[in-house]
Amino acid sequence: MQALPCQGCRGLCCGPVPITEKEYKNIQKKVKAMPRKLRDELEKQPRLYGTCMFYDLDRDQCGIHAARPDICRMFGYHKDLVCFRKPELATKEPAPLKQKHIGYLSIDITWKDF
Ligand code: SF4
Ligand code: SF4
Repeated sequence: MQALPCQGCRGLCCGPVPITEKEYKNIQKKVKAMPRKLRDELEKQPRLYGTCMFYDLDRDQCGIHAARPDICRMFGYHKDLVCFRKPELATKEPAPLKQKHIGYLSIDITWKDF
């Protein structure tokens, strides 16, 4: 599968994303396993309003990459999740949302929940 040209976007498409209970638990584990210094750095980074709380501005990457929600994994490859920098990669059928979402990261679920 061709990769998206994400380097340099600095979290352009990383806004508040919906997560399931299972994804929340996975992220909780990931955050708990982080060195305290890294967690503190991530929490204090001055993001633009609307940028995902886990986007790591210093490293220009997702701060919880291995535990990121399904919607982040699907972004750019489904017809309803198009990346404007590479729209030709959005060829899969609309993303299947199998499980119930419990809320949006950065809005309903914030640092106090981790
Ligand atoms: S998916 Fe597209 S907009 Fe998002 S970071 Fe990657 S290249 Fe940039
Ligand atoms: S969890 Fe990671 S990939 Fe998903 S929106 Fe946040 S920073 Fe981006």
